[in-house]
Amino acid sequence: MNQLVKKPVRTISGVTPLTVVLKPRKCDHGTCIYCPGGDSVPQSYTNKSPAIMRALALSFDPYQQVMNRLDVLKKMGHPTDKIEIIVLGGTFLQYEIDYQHEFIKRCFDALNGKDSKNLEEAKKLNEISEHRCVALCIENRPDNCSPSEIRRMLEFGCTRVELGVQMPDDEIYKKTNRGHSVQDVIDSTKRLKDAGFKIGYHIMPGLPYSNREKDLKLFRMIFENENFRPDQLKIYPCQVVDDSPLAKTYKIIKFKPYTEQEAKEIMEEMMRIIPEYCRVMRMMREFPREKLIEGIEKLDLRKDIEDDLRKNKEKIKEIRMREVGFNKNVDVKVKLKTTEYDASGGKEYFLEFVNKKSILFGLLRLRVFKNNAFVRELHVYGKAAIIGEKSDESQQHKGIGKLLMHEAEKIAKENKIKKLKVISGVGVREYYKNLGYNLEKNYMVKEI
Ligand code: SF4
Repeated sequence: MNQLVKKPVRTISGVTPLTVVLKPRKCDHGTCIYCPGGDSVPQSYTNKSPAIMRALALSFDPYQQVMNRLDVLKKMGHPTDKIEIIVLGGTFLQYEIDYQHEFIKRCFDALNGKDSKNLEEAKKLNEISEHRCVALCIENRPDNCSPSEIRRMLEFGCTRVELGVQMPDDEIYKKTNRGHSVQDVIDSTKRLKDAGFKIGYHIMPGLPYSNREKDLKLFRMIFENENFRPDQLKIYPCQVVDDSPLAKTYKIIKFKPYTEQEAKEIMEEMMRIIPEYCRVMRMMREFPREKLIEGIEKLDLRKDIEDDLRKNKEKIKEIRMREVGFNKNVDVKVKLKTTEYDASGGKEYFLEFVNKKSILFGLLRLRVFKNNAFVRELHVYGKAAIIGEKSDESQQHKGIGKLLMHEAEKIAKENKIKKLKVISGVGVREYYKNLGYNLEKNYMVKEI
């Protein structure tokens, strides 16, 4: 932990992300107009993106990709004991089912450093492996979240689903060839939350047929209307990228993407709207410059936006700006804060350990609906710590996680719930076992 870490932001929230890219495949509905992709690269990526070039060189083999990344991450000084697998490219749930199973199994095999007979065995081995999969994220479309698809994602050990939402408006969906409706977004959001998943939305301001007012109105709706209310966002302003349908038509339809200044202003406004329970994971897609036909070249716009907001001492509630790892000289005295809100027909309890200035040290998302209660996320912030080892720089082993779980159990009991379920990355099951939870149908469960 004392060695120099290149790109520390990658692991500052406690977990090391590792992306694995799917083999190329076209989406079933066709192509969304802004989406690049060709026959040799996965949909929504270009052949000049570093992640894709790496995957191409390894023939998109998931095992090799994971091994290769583990090696690189280690060399860069990142911890590799707690890994979040992120599945990228196209719509995973539309691939042949055998491919999906094999893909995930091979990711686990690589983390385990050992081949297994089947996915279940690979997951079991990973519970005590050197490189534990503490979270698994699948990028998905809102119309690929049927009950059976949700069961499959649970079998894969998935904990987080990122939905391509862009801007929830049926007219925009139609004109941009999204191939699904706003109702699909509402239904999938509910089903995913009811299964305990953490949900991220991909948001795309500046689409053709939208404008600043419309974008902000729709963005406000995402949080004002309880049918949406995602836990996380990625905000990617629309760009004209080579190999996309828009690249061929943008001149004919007289489309102009947002300028850097326009995008900056609109994303600043979005940051002011985001409530305390939502985290912005990313701003700006990193398209290689040579593939960008029209759009914003500055990729680290987020830094400018956050610097502005901090300089002007604006009260931003968004999670990442409040995380202890992204703030300097913080007071470590914290107290528990609970925010209740309605979402998708259930009640959400957002528990946080924060100091007086709302700097965040840990959070838990509890969902209660009908006779069910799910812990959808437990996260303690700070520099990634090695499992079982104490680290002065980290808050990870100071019991905040246990205190949050204790509070969640208390609230569940008050709601007359008999069993609390946790959606847990395979590699975190041991942690919950120590708190009295047992594995039951892909969840860690405790009678309370
Ligand atoms: S669903 Fe996603 S990957 Fe498929 S065409 Fe649309 S934007 Fe691209």
